[in-house]
Amino acid sequence: MTALVVRDDLSKRDPRRHLSKSFIAQTHNCGQRAWFSIHDPRPWVAPEKVTFGSAVDAGVEVIVKALERGEQPDVNDAWDAARLRVDGETNTPNDLEVFAALASFAEWSVVHEVHWPGTVTQPHIRLELDGIGEVDAHPDLLLPQGYEDPRVGTIVDIKTGKAAKPANAAATSYTELGLYALLVRETEKPPYPPMSVAYWTYVRSKKPWWQEVVAPVTPHLLSVARHRVAAVARAIEADALLNDGVTTPTNSVFVAPPRFGCSDCQYSPDCTWAEEAQEEAA
Ligand code: SF4
Repeated sequence: MTALVVRDDLSKRDPRRHLSKSFIAQTHNCGQRAWFSIHDPRPWVAPEKVTFGSAVDAGVEVIVKALERGEQPDVNDAWDAARLRVDGETNTPNDLEVFAALASFAEWSVVHEVHWPGTVTQPHIRLELDGIGEVDAHPDLLLPQGYEDPRVGTIVDIKTGKAAKPANAAATSYTELGLYALLVRETEKPPYPPMSVAYWTYVRSKKPWWQEVVAPVTPHLLSVARHRVAAVARAIEADALLNDGVTTPTNSVFVAPPRFGCSDCQYSPDCTWAEEAQEEAA
C-alpha cells in the first residue's frame, strides 16, 4: 500500500491568529506578497521547482520512517508517496528526476551515518512564545539526542534547489532553522542538551547531489531568531492599527522587495511593487 504523506494547507493560515514559519519567510522574500496574503488572499499555482521539492520531501519522509523502524527503505514506496503528494498539481515534476533524487538519498553517505531510531518526522509545533504570541511550524526531521557531533539532536530541513547552499546557510538561517530551534528549545527544560540545525539539499545541477550544511544551535542563533520573529509579530500589529477603519488598506510595514522575481506570484501582473522592482532593476 502506498504511504500517504499529508501536509497542512498552509494557504488557509491567518498570520494574525498565529504566526507561521512560512509567513515569516514570506515577509523576507517579498513584503508586499506577505501583506497581500493577509488582505487579499488568493490561490497560488505552485511552479515546478516547488512541486519537485514537495515530491522529494514526501519521498524522503517515507525513507526516513523506514530507517527509523530499522527497516531497509524501499525507494519505490517512497516514489509512490512522492507522486501521490503532487498528484493534481498543475506543474508536476518529472517522475524520473524525483526517483533519482530519492534513490540517491537512500544511498547518500550521510543517511548511513545517522542514528535513526527515535527520529521524528514532520512534528507539528505550535507554541506561545513570550512577547510574540502563537507560532506554528513543521520542521522536516528531528534527529534524536545522543548521536555524535556534529549531528546532535539535529533539526533538519529537506530542500531542493538549482545551486548548493553556502557553507554558513544553516548558521544564519534565523527565520527558518533558528525559529525551529527556538520552538524545540521552548519544549525543553534546562540543562539544555546540545542541538544543531541542518539543511539537506538535493542540488539539481548537471550532476545532481545531496549536500549537508550543519551548524550548532548557539545563543546568537536563538536570540536573532527571536528578534526577527518578534519584529514580524509587531509589524502585523502595526498594520492592523494603521489600516483600522480605512477604506483602502495600504502596506507600510512589510517593506522587503521581491528577492526571487515576480513570475511565480499570484499577484503579478497587477501588483504595483512588481513594476517598481523592474524599474529599479533596469
Ligand atoms: S508581484 Fe512581485 S512585488 Fe508584487 S507581491 Fe508578487 S512577488 Fe511581490
